Amino acid sequence: MVATLETTRSKPTREEAIYMIKSAPRIATLGENVPCPRCGQTLLYEQIGNSYVIECSDESCIRTGCRGI
Ligand SMILES: [Zn+2]
Repeated sequence: MVATLETTRSKPTREEAIYMIKSAPRIATLGENVPCPRCGQTLLYEQIGNSYVIECSDESCIRTGCRGI
């Protein structure tokens, strides 16, 4: 289940969100630098309880979240 969390960043398109969520395990477990699908800057991963968010390192770019791992 995918949910977009409250943020100053904007909502990604469906394609961007899918890319970001697919990239999450690579960022979280392998420590890879995955580029943002929109601007090419590094994506950041943050775990919050049993949810996580993937966001661009640019605060004016995009962010998405996923609940219930
Ligand atoms: Zn970006």
